[in-house]
Amino acid sequence: MKELRGLSAAPGVAVGKAFLYLDDEAPEIPRYGIRTPDVENEWDRFQNAVRIAESEVVELRDRASREMGDEHAKIFEAHLLMLSDVELRDQIRARLVELEQNIEWILWDLTRELSQKLAAAGDPYLRERSIDIHDISRRVLNHLLLIKKVSLADLDQDVILVTHNLLPSDALVMNKEHVKGIVMDIGGKTSHTAILARAFEIPAVLGLTDATMEIREGSLVVVDGGAGKVIVEPNGAVLDRYRRLTETLRKASSALLAEKDLPAMTMDGKRLTLKANIEIPEEADHALAYGAEGIGLYRSEFLFLTPGRTADEEEQYDSYRRVVVSMAGWPVTIRTLDVGGDKLIPDIQGAEEKNPLLGWRAIRFCLARRELFGTQLRALLRASVDGDLRIMFPMISGLEELEDALSALEDAKVECRERGQAFREDLKVGIMIEVPSAAMTADILARRSDFFSIGTNDLVQYSIATDRGNERVAYLAQPFHPAVLRFVKATIDAAHAKGISAAMCGELAGDPNASAVLLGLGLDEFSMSAVSIPLVKRVIRGVNSAECEALARDALAQNSYRDVETLVRTWMAERFPTA
Ligand code: PEP
Ligand code: MG
Repeated sequence: MKELRGLSAAPGVAVGKAFLYLDDEAPEIPRYGIRTPDVENEWDRFQNAVRIAESEVVELRDRASREMGDEHAKIFEAHLLMLSDVELRDQIRARLVELEQNIEWILWDLTRELSQKLAAAGDPYLRERSIDIHDISRRVLNHLLLIKKVSLADLDQDVILVTHNLLPSDALVMNKEHVKGIVMDIGGKTSHTAILARAFEIPAVLGLTDATMEIREGSLVVVDGGAGKVIVEPNGAVLDRYRRLTETLRKASSALLAEKDLPAMTMDGKRLTLKANIEIPEEADHALAYGAEGIGLYRSEFLFLTPGRTADEEEQYDSYRRVVVSMAGWPVTIRTLDVGGDKLIPDIQGAEEKNPLLGWRAIRFCLARRELFGTQLRALLRASVDGDLRIMFPMISGLEELEDALSALEDAKVECRERGQAFREDLKVGIMIEVPSAAMTADILARRSDFFSIGTNDLVQYSIATDRGNERVAYLAQPFHPAVLRFVKATIDAAHAKGISAAMCGELAGDPNASAVLLGLGLDEFSMSAVSIPLVKRVIRGVNSAECEALARDALAQNSYRDVETLVRTWMAERFPTA
């Protein structure tokens, strides 16, 4: 038995067999010379690997077309065409004969070259093909190296997924029914993989550094998401303890769910609003099931994360409309495309950047790609007819950026009018406060915003200068840092001075330990993973506003995040002794 410690990324307990998933960073491609008589042998190996890859892709294509429609199957059609491309095969054979190196190296080297050339092309179609080349080359290489790399969408047995780095796009397509737990070498608590794990209610421990070295394929593993622990090959006593814990958690969550329709009101009658964050339209039902009074953040970029394709206006319109209709009149705040950072979308963003977190992200990217932004804005405007849709701009850093975004929205409105497409004229437009410069100028930004939503994941990252996805600096990512509390307070005060509402949609909003302080700071609206709503609501219903205001004042007077944390935890333990 072995215990590994990491970061608690999504609560809950899972027990199951480890499935090691090799991402693109692994494995190393071997390179060695071969003798002339072995050339044909290498060629045969290549042909075999291609045949297996082809049959896999045919299956994937058929499945995509059955389950998601022909549009989604197109990408696999493109892969099939490439796998049978005679010119490409001829090039591979010619290099093999000329260089007399092992076929893995020849294939990898040639396709890398091709893929880089295509990625640098101006034409978006060619840039997309660069991803396809990379994908098929990876698939064939995996067979040549005899590595079992099953697509995560094809999992057909329950597993604990053990991986170095699960990209948000992988998490999106994986078969969620069979992924019972997630264990990852890298990643922080507010990385998007952690956020998705919480949304899908899959217990997850991240930032374990070398879990992929410590855990063998097929070993029995316990994932204790709440404690950030992974136990490999547990003994009988540990297994029993976790079985009991699972049962206790199940009972506690059904007791909480029974309270889902009670209002989020403090004991002295202050009414708060609790909403859900979602990444895909299907989560809207989930949000309602947990008692959400609307969607406070729909991360629209997840629509664009499927490699090899870009959602067009109709597809976007359908998705936005679907959420608005499912939410049956409750407000739905949709954030415009927030690409970049750990949500790189090479299909639309082109080459990777040296410092993506400070680079061409979110609104900066959209303002530079007006056509793409205009398409999204039109789709949003059109979907606003069916309910209370609100638009939110991410990563606003100052007034000029906000004004540019608002003027792009005005342009989109003009286009809709010209096309005879109806939209809601009184649609609300707000911004995320997640950059320190925005928090410090919130009074100015409030003049041009209908609402604020504080994104603590990025606000913490940028104010403390700590990469939210890097487990080595995760200890610094403290939302109770006095600087963060001051930014939050300044934002809320500026909103209220202008009579607009202050929401929070960063992960802090879903932390029940933070609820009383946030309430005391004056936050009006909390938006979080749906599953967190009942617990936060229970805290709100158990406090009164005056004591929360006093707690917030005390918190603001502390010198360090440790002092704030001690203050808040002690307070919570006294007020909620059984929690
Ligand atoms: C945030 O930064 O707090 C936020 C909610 O946005 P995201 O996590 O998608 O960056
Ligand atoms: Mg953010």
